[in-house]
Amino acid sequence: MTGFNGRCACGAIVFTITGPVGDVVACHCRTCRRASGFVWAAVECADRDLSISGDTLAWWASSEQASRGFCAACGSSLFFKLHETGRTSVAPGVIDTPLTRTVARHIFCAEAGDYYRLADDVPQHAAGGAA
Ligand SMILES: [Zn+2]
Ligand SMILES: [Zn+2]
Repeated sequence: MTGFNGRCACGAIVFTITGPVGDVVACHCRTCRRASGFVWAAVECADRDLSISGDTLAWWASSEQASRGFCAACGSSLFFKLHETGRTSVAPGVIDTPLTRTVARHIFCAEAGDYYRLADDVPQHAAGGAA
């Protein structure tokens, strides 16, 4: 399936993805849990397929390799970008179009929080794995 629309909670940022997206990957690393407040999850798309508009988009360099895009007005956690990959990860919770897929991988499970259980039968990776 291709063609997805989404927006942040306040609506100041809207985006479209005109190409396909990948699997839903849930990341349990400390930084994702801090940035999202719980567990971050995302689907990847090609940068060329992603069109974003809105003046409140802000980027935080969460490491030397990656930045996270969020709405400076409402705080919605929207994007994760590993530099120089040509791809952006988009939070499934801000995509309005049905994704018709569920979490396919848990990554960085070695850093998972103690406030939930990984109780599904989805593959778990201690570190990154292919995201
Ligand atoms: Zn917003
Ligand atoms: Zn993470």
